[in-house]
Amino acid sequence: MKQDFKDLRVVIIGGGPGGTACALAMRRKAEQLGRKVHITLIEGKQFIHEKHYNQCVGVLSPPLPELLENELGIPFPMQLCLVEIQGYVLHSSGEQIILQGAGDDSFAMRRVQFDQYMLNQVYKAGIEVFNARAVDLEFHTDRVIVYTESLPLEADVVVGAFGLDEGSAGLFARHTAYRPPHAMNSLVTKFDPQNDHDSNLEGYIHAFLISNPRIEFGAVTPKCTHCTINIAGDHVDTPLMDRFLSNEQVLQVLPELNGGNVQQNHDLIYFKGRFPRSLARNYYGDRYVMVGDAAGLVRAFKGKGVTTAVMTGIRAADTILNHGYSQKAFHDHYRTANHDIIQDLPYGHTMRFLTIMMSRIGFLNPVLRAARDCPDLESALFDAVSAHALYREVLSKSLRPTTILAILKAMLPGSNSRSTSKR
Ligand SMILES: Cc1cc2nc3c(=O)[nH]c(=O)nc-3n(C[C@H](O)[C@H](O)[C@H](O)COP(=O)(O)OP(=O)(O)OC[C@H]3O[C@@H](n4cnc5c(N)ncnc54)[C@H](O)[C@@H]3O)c2cc1C
Repeated sequence: MKQDFKDLRVVIIGGGPGGTACALAMRRKAEQLGRKVHITLIEGKQFIHEKHYNQCVGVLSPPLPELLENELGIPFPMQLCLVEIQGYVLHSSGEQIILQGAGDDSFAMRRVQFDQYMLNQVYKAGIEVFNARAVDLEFHTDRVIVYTESLPLEADVVVGAFGLDEGSAGLFARHTAYRPPHAMNSLVTKFDPQNDHDSNLEGYIHAFLISNPRIEFGAVTPKCTHCTINIAGDHVDTPLMDRFLSNEQVLQVLPELNGGNVQQNHDLIYFKGRFPRSLARNYYGDRYVMVGDAAGLVRAFKGKGVTTAVMTGIRAADTILNHGYSQKAFHDHYRTANHDIIQDLPYGHTMRFLTIMMSRIGFLNPVLRAARDCPDLESALFDAVSAHALYREVLSKSLRPTTILAILKAMLPGSNSRSTSKR
């Protein structure tokens, strides 16, 4: 494939974290290399005045501040931070444990404000932004044409940063061998308990692994004056969210949810979103590459989606500028750069499977009890819930002989005391 490295034209479809990071990294690195690159970012939504949203709880995890500051040359928007996360309370169907770790610098903010901040940085960098949707593509030997709801655009290479948007995935699937990742559903709602002290939960995120086979996990996240509540699973829906909100453990954390009459009492609005739970097929080829959710390049099972989208956006920009935009360049450099994420996926899937099975049969209760006296297990649970370490490390800590022994001891009759420390 003929590649002209002089005046590169790049079109990025999607202005979420992956797309904006790719645009900013490309502009910065091109300047450092003295290369002329024309970048156009296409974003269909308007984040300004919170008109449109990308579904998210808005917990931003390390190393996001370093990525923004060191790789993109922009400050981390600390002014948008609503809560600095202090730790996690993990609940099984009968137990709970408080988990804290060193260097856990996660922040909760309104995701729409973060997206608007990133897009503003793109404007500030002088990058062209099209507020329209990409609606079709044509791949030719010497260029790609991206049709939008306004003008068509020509590019040497197109970056797919469109998240799990099914229409955009369909576009690429029609013209290339790309196939989107499998996805898991999530329902989200915002709850305002009208009580400042309780509502911010002292900065702790409550994670629930309860024994409902259709809810893989649930979480209550403090957001200053309100909480965000979400559940995830392949088939989660409104009745399941109702059931989650009337669950005994959830009511202990948020008593004002008031049992069954949640919807009537509080007019809660449920929103639906999706997480990728597998790698996309053929997420790169001649003249195209996917980043973030569109590639399925995220930690399996539990998140860090924003951080990994930014990371993969930067890696795609690096590959295009330094190695080109052929299928081989992406295979040799982009795929290799993402080995950390890709190699951890099987461990994440194993962890997901084990967690689902254990919560169904009530085996998580002894695990949580054992963790109180077993530092390795406690640290493995913290790493899994906070997403601060690779699943390979989480599994290796969990399978140490001392850990297994501690779990076996916790299964013995008489060791089933509940934790007294509650937040
Ligand atoms: C319920 C829920 C809660 C979550 N909570 C968290 C969390 O707390 N922390 C975290 O790190 N991650 C969280 N995630 C995951 C996180 O939201 C994603 O991993 C992350 O947003 C992926 O970024 P992205 O740039 O790849 O895609 P997205 O953020 O989805 O951005 C894609 C963008 O592309 C645009 N677009 C799509 N198609 C087109 C088109 N044809 N033309 C123009 N524009 C287009 C969309 O409008 C969108 O703005 C959550 C996800 C869900 C569903």
